[in-house]
Amino acid sequence: MNAGDTNFKNGWRLDNSYSCLPTFFYTRLTPTPVKAPKLVLLNRGLAERLGLSVVELESDEGVSILAGNRLPPGADPLAQAYAGHQFGYFTMLGDGRAILLGEQITPDGCRFDIQLKGAGITPYSRGGDGRAALSPMLREYLISEAMHALGIPTTRSLAVVTTGESVWRDREWPGAVLTRVAASHLRVGTFEYAARMGHVDLLRTLADYAWERHFLAADPVGASTEEESAVTAAQMPVEPTAAGNRYLTLLREVIKRQAQLIAKWQLVGFIHGVMNTDNMAISGETIDYGPCAFMDTYDPATVFSSIDYHGRYAYGNQPIMAAWNLARFAEALLSLLHDDEDKAASLAQKEVSRFPALYHAHWLAGMRMKLGLFGEEAEDENLIVDLLALMQENKADYTNTFLALTYENEKMEGATIFASAGFATWYERWQARLARQKEPRKAARRLMRQSNPALIPRNHRVEEALEAAVERNDLSILQRFLDVLAAPYAHLTTQAEYAALPPPSDRPYCTFCGT
Ligand code: AMP
Ligand code: MG
Repeated sequence: MNAGDTNFKNGWRLDNSYSCLPTFFYTRLTPTPVKAPKLVLLNRGLAERLGLSVVELESDEGVSILAGNRLPPGADPLAQAYAGHQFGYFTMLGDGRAILLGEQITPDGCRFDIQLKGAGITPYSRGGDGRAALSPMLREYLISEAMHALGIPTTRSLAVVTTGESVWRDREWPGAVLTRVAASHLRVGTFEYAARMGHVDLLRTLADYAWERHFLAADPVGASTEEESAVTAAQMPVEPTAAGNRYLTLLREVIKRQAQLIAKWQLVGFIHGVMNTDNMAISGETIDYGPCAFMDTYDPATVFSSIDYHGRYAYGNQPIMAAWNLARFAEALLSLLHDDEDKAASLAQKEVSRFPALYHAHWLAGMRMKLGLFGEEAEDENLIVDLLALMQENKADYTNTFLALTYENEKMEGATIFASAGFATWYERWQARLARQKEPRKAARRLMRQSNPALIPRNHRVEEALEAAVERNDLSILQRFLDVLAAPYAHLTTQAEYAALPPPSDRPYCTFCGT
């Protein structure tokens, strides 16, 4: 893919490969202008990464671009069409309030979608107002950036602007637009849409496009730092396929990336909350921060979302639901996998059936690191599972238990789990395992510090920051929170207070499909 018709004004260098696809996949339209745009948050680091001028983005012209009142040079704005299984049921969807401006080509040659979320009504709005409220957009900004800093592939947030208009939800809220940056917005649901509504040629066109965009190109800059995690997920080199079947390889690679992604979620206790197939990106990035939240007390049944009545997307179910979504992806690809229906189905099934083992391998490797374990011993998994069982039994905080083990003794007083009889035995087994490895304790502790975050975006802290921003126009709490969340593995003294648990409450934390 070439950058094509580019324009370098103010750093904008937009290409529009998606709008070169057949119009079946989108509707061209411009964002609906808003009354009085005002910049609330700008991600300077990300702007620089994208090659955009911070000064220009902060200017009136820049802010009107971020609000959708003016188009950046080279934009070919559109709303994408897609479908999806929502809580198990197939639905026609599409961007109901998001508009893709184009794909920014970064100075080092990477390609990122620039999308305005909350940019007005589209043909896919289905009765919605096409708008977004400030609090959920700040929430998406905060959590997506925290995820990025945790080393988890994710869409990112470039800016939040307020619109000077109100939106009505449970009450009147200030309206806002979020600029989302993604390796792409291709979803499992995009393929479901093509498979159900289109001709096989359209499906093939989409599959070829996804292949070329995410799996064909070798990583152009050899990106490997944490800063580049979105890139490494989206542009990882691909294993050559044995069968030489491009679509089977596409399926295999998407499955591999999801196995890696979901393991990373589980390792930090991230609960997505709405893992519908329209919210699963082909690139392997986490997408759609609605009712997501981090687990505090360890319990696989944890659910925060107010609409997840049956716990379909509970913490412990996430790997199962990811496999379910991937089965929908495989189904959508069937007609490309083989001319013979039965052979296509058996090929697809074989690929999807690999997910649990792939996921488990990533999870086990990550858990070993969280416990400072080098090498592999057969008993490692039992050691891990037994610790998790102790956490559940003693209602221990997931993040802070690993933190206490990382710091050893300094922070182990206080929590019930460490005083329990079961823990003493477990601790001995752990110590014996550590003693058996040739790596010194110092190396194990370093590994643990690199694998256990000093802090996560704790729900009460998130609420505190959003409340101050939205109700009192005070962004300082959110800004400080963003700063400490930017380096979760640095273990700075300034982060310690953010590890504190919320005061006990009899009301469970509840999130809403933030709109
Ligand atoms: P989500 O639950 O965020 O994945 O959204 C599901 C679908 O609802 C997507 O097609 C969104 O574009 C659409 N949607 C969400 N909020 C709105 C809104 N306020 N107006 C129009 N469409 C919306
Ligand atoms: Mg969505």
